[in-house]
Amino acid sequence: MTYGIGYAIRSEGFTSLEDIINGLNLEAGEARQLMDRLLLINVVKRGFLLSCARCRWEAFYRIEHVGPTFTCQACEHVSPLTHGRWYKEDPEPHIYYALDQVVRNLLNQHGYLPILAAAELGKDARSVLWTSEFSVVTDSDSIELDLCLIVDGRIIVGEAKSNGILKAEHGTQEAAKRLAEAAHILTADEIVLATTKERWAAGTATLVAQALDTHWKRGPRPRLRELLNVGSDS
Ligand SMILES: [Zn+2]
Repeated sequence: MTYGIGYAIRSEGFTSLEDIINGLNLEAGEARQLMDRLLLINVVKRGFLLSCARCRWEAFYRIEHVGPTFTCQACEHVSPLTHGRWYKEDPEPHIYYALDQVVRNLLNQHGYLPILAAAELGKDARSVLWTSEFSVVTDSDSIELDLCLIVDGRIIVGEAKSNGILKAEHGTQEAAKRLAEAAHILTADEIVLATTKERWAAGTATLVAQALDTHWKRGPRPRLRELLNVGSDS
């Protein structure tokens, strides 16, 4: 199915260089440089969209897996790379780009949010130490943190949620308690609640502040900050 820019097979999108030039309003050379950079770091794959001569299964095939023939991913039939195997309006098989599966998973699971939030927190800083998803393990519990970084010597921990809802198995209060406990163990200077939404669900920051009142036993209490609309200007 075509939908203007790009091509979709079973809800997975593929894009051509022309789509990138038009979609991002880039010069051809800029788009080429962008795609070369993404190819080199394995963010995207380059290939053809082909259909099997036997079962008509349509799929993306990496360019290095296609020669004079290609093997169907569904039925393993070997089809010659001849007219009829690609989009009929194209005289030659067109080159398309697909996101690497790991990147696709990251996007589907909103894994970009902690990365964008960390980038925003580290903006203009002299030094940033960042780790991806981090677990604080105690004798009785394991608390996962979406955000854990040190910016100019300040320890920042937090949660990053695309839906603006801070939730553990038994609700927001439990999630707030766990966040406060992890922050205390790590002697955090700041707790950040990051979301792509315009605001967090009502009462979220209050519950985290109350959890800090209850669970922060020693040392200076961390600052609590909401980071809203993360990624909206990119
Ligand atoms: Zn087939």
